[in-house]
Amino acid sequence: MSQPTRRQVLSSLAVGAAAMTLAPHVRGQDAQKKLGFAIVGLGRFGAGQLLRSLPECKLCKPVALVSGHPDKAKQLADKYGIDSANIYNYENFDNIKNNGEVDVVYVVLPNSMHAEYTIRAANAGKHVMCEKPMAINVEECQQMIDACKKNNRKLAIGYRLHYEPNNLKAIEIARGGQYGKLRQVVADHGFNISPHEWRTDKKLSGGGPLMDVGIYCLQAARYLSGEEPTHVTAQTWTPKDDPRFKNTDASMAFTLKFPGGTLATCQCSYASHGISEYHFMTEQAYGRLDNGFAYGGITFLLKDRGKPSMLDLPNINQFAAEMDAFADCVNNNKPSATPGEEGLADLKVMMKLYEAAESGKTVAM
Ligand code: NAD
Repeated sequence: MSQPTRRQVLSSLAVGAAAMTLAPHVRGQDAQKKLGFAIVGLGRFGAGQLLRSLPECKLCKPVALVSGHPDKAKQLADKYGIDSANIYNYENFDNIKNNGEVDVVYVVLPNSMHAEYTIRAANAGKHVMCEKPMAINVEECQQMIDACKKNNRKLAIGYRLHYEPNNLKAIEIARGGQYGKLRQVVADHGFNISPHEWRTDKKLSGGGPLMDVGIYCLQAARYLSGEEPTHVTAQTWTPKDDPRFKNTDASMAFTLKFPGGTLATCQCSYASHGISEYHFMTEQAYGRLDNGFAYGGITFLLKDRGKPSMLDLPNINQFAAEMDAFADCVNNNKPSATPGEEGLADLKVMMKLYEAAESGKTVAM
C-alpha cells in the first residue's frame, strides 16, 4: 500500500474538526464589526482551508481575492459570494488601498513572497495576517514588523495552534507547575513531498522541511517552555539520488536547550511517512498529543504521576478560530497572541539551526 500524501493525511484528520468555530476568548462578542478579509494566494491552504473557513467565522467574512489565475479567482469568488470587482492580481494588488470593504489582507503565498506582500498590504493601509514561516530570513521579518508599525496596522502570523484547545491545555500543563518543571519535549513532523513542489525550491521556500513542518516542532518547544533556546544543534540529510531534493535538504534532526532546564529533540522530513505529533515530560507528568500539529483529529493522553487518561477536548476549526481572534484584536485594539515578533523569534532560531547543521557544532543563540 502506498504511503499517504501530506494532503491525504491532513484532510483525513480535518474530518473531526468542526464542532467549535470560535476560540473561547472571542466568544460572546457578537456586537463586534465583521471584518472583510482578502486572501492573497488561492492554493491548497489559501483556498482549501482559509477561504473555506471564512464563512464559519463570527467576526470575519471573505470580501476579496488576489490571484495570478483570473479564472480560478472568478470561480472561487462566485462560490463564496465575493464581488468580482474585488478580484486583484499581483500587479494591481496595491489598488486594494482604495477598497474600503477590505480590512485585513491574509498572505498565503510561497514563503519568499511573504515579506513583499505583507509590506505592500501594510502600505495600502490594511491589517495583515501572514502564513508561517513569516519570511525566509530575520531581516525580512523585521522589515514586515516595521512596515506594519509605520502604518499603524496590526500583524499576526498564522500560528493556528495557539488557538487550539489541546495545544493550549498542553501549554497550561507544561508551564503551570502543578506537575513540576518541564524537562523534555519530543516532536516529529514530516511527510513524503510530491515532486516539483515550490517547497523544495530554496528560492521560494527559504529552506527544507524545517521551514514548513519543522517550524511546528520548534514552536511546540517554544510555547510549551515559554522560553527562548540558548543553544541549538542540527543535522540534515540530503539524498544524492532523489530528484526531489536538488537544493534543499530532505530531513533535519535538531535539539534545543532552554534556560529553565528543558531539552527539546525534534525531527522533520519531506521524505518520510506522514507524522505530526509530540510528547512532553514534566517532572511528574507525561503528555502526548497524537496528530498534535494537524488540522484535526488531535488526541491528548496525559499520564498524571503515572496514571493515564485521555483528555476530552474539542477539535475545532483552527482557521476560523485564528482569524476570529485576529479580528477581535483589530476591533478592540488588543495585541495578537501570535504577532510578527513571534514569527521573527522562530526565524532567529531557524537560521541558527542551519548554521549548526552546516558547521556540525553546537551554536549559541
Ligand atoms: P500552494 O502551492 O498550494 O499555493 C501557493 C499559491 O501561491 C498558489 O495559489 C500559487 O498560484 C501562488 N503563487 C504565486 N506565485 C507563485 C510562485 N512563484 N510559485 C508558486 N506558487 C505561486 O501552497 P500552500 O500549501 O497553499 O502554502 C502557501 C503558504 O501557506 C506557505 O507559506 C505555507 O507555509 C503556508 N501553509 C500553512 C499551513 C498552516 O497550517 N498554517 C498549511 C499549509 C501551508
